[in-house]
Amino acid sequence: MNFELDEIVIEGGCRQSALAARVISRAPAGVPVNFVADARIAVRPRAEAADPFGAGKRRIAVMRRRAPFLMACPAGSSEFACCGYLVLVLASNCPMDCSYCFLQEYLADNPSFQVYANYPDALDELERMRRRAPGRALRVGTGELADSLAFDRLTGVSRELVEFCAAREGLLLELKTKTDEIDNLLTVDPRGRTLVSWTLSPPQVFSRSEKGTAPPAARLAAARRVLEAGYKVAFHLDPVIAYPDAERDYLALLDDLFDTISPSRIAFISMGGLRMTPALRAIARRRHPYDPLLCGEEVLAPDGRYRTFTPLRVGLLRQLERRIAAASSTLPRYLCMEPPSIHRRVLGHAPAPAASLGATLAGR
Ligand code: SF4
Repeated sequence: MNFELDEIVIEGGCRQSALAARVISRAPAGVPVNFVADARIAVRPRAEAADPFGAGKRRIAVMRRRAPFLMACPAGSSEFACCGYLVLVLASNCPMDCSYCFLQEYLADNPSFQVYANYPDALDELERMRRRAPGRALRVGTGELADSLAFDRLTGVSRELVEFCAAREGLLLELKTKTDEIDNLLTVDPRGRTLVSWTLSPPQVFSRSEKGTAPPAARLAAARRVLEAGYKVAFHLDPVIAYPDAERDYLALLDDLFDTISPSRIAFISMGGLRMTPALRAIARRRHPYDPLLCGEEVLAPDGRYRTFTPLRVGLLRQLERRIAAASSTLPRYLCMEPPSIHRRVLGHAPAPAASLGATLAGR
């Protein structure tokens, strides 16, 4: 996938790093490389741009991360059923541009695509965490504040990360993506300790709302290839967006998925309805004024987010749940960022405790 780039910024202290050397040597021809003393200034939004957030996506900053790399998944709280996932922040933002993406609000003041040259420190953090929890399966993902594989062609970080986890018991790395950038993954043996997950949407959502992402068929083809190379695979139907033909389109998507990959070889499927804070909804509608999927029947939920009108959302999620269960009653599935009441209505039971859900998802 070729993402547009306006500029590469390298922080002075990272000039000699392996990551900077890779990014500079693999940069597309004609993209200027600028060296700055402190990239935190360079990554700020540029007020003169018509769309400062969109402009930030076209600027890569190779810089040092000053904060810890590991954090608990921001989706986890007492309100939501949760899977006990840890986030490893190796990059921030994403060159693709989905109209519903929460990063539009979360990174509004910090929009450049950042990659952290001191990522070997992240591996040290992970190793310390693993030693503090002997015998416990840890699920660690890099796809929360960035797409895990976008720009992997430039950064090459995935390969090192997969090799690191392959050598350590108890770790399950989850790479989450909407790309088909899997070439680096195919060069390394994950030894069953890396799972690659794809967020899937029907073609009708992809073409209206997921600018720059790989088409759904390409995501499925990529999943098939990494599965054959020894990776685990999983899928996220998230966000599920309600629109007039949504049920037909999402069920067809599931059929395509199960035609491409046997349900018995899928580690899990997660689902979650579209949700947006009022601020995100305002930003999304301003940045993507022609996306009709941003104008559905939404109501302000008790958690302060706009969510699809509950009967519509539950009806749609239930249909998807039934189709998955018909394909395989043992395929693990869970709801992400949905309250326990929705969990009961869709799956017919209360959410599993985080630790046991995490162990189930890590084990298959
Ligand atoms: S691919 Fe993911 S991170 Fe990138 S814009 Fe879309 S939702 Fe956001």
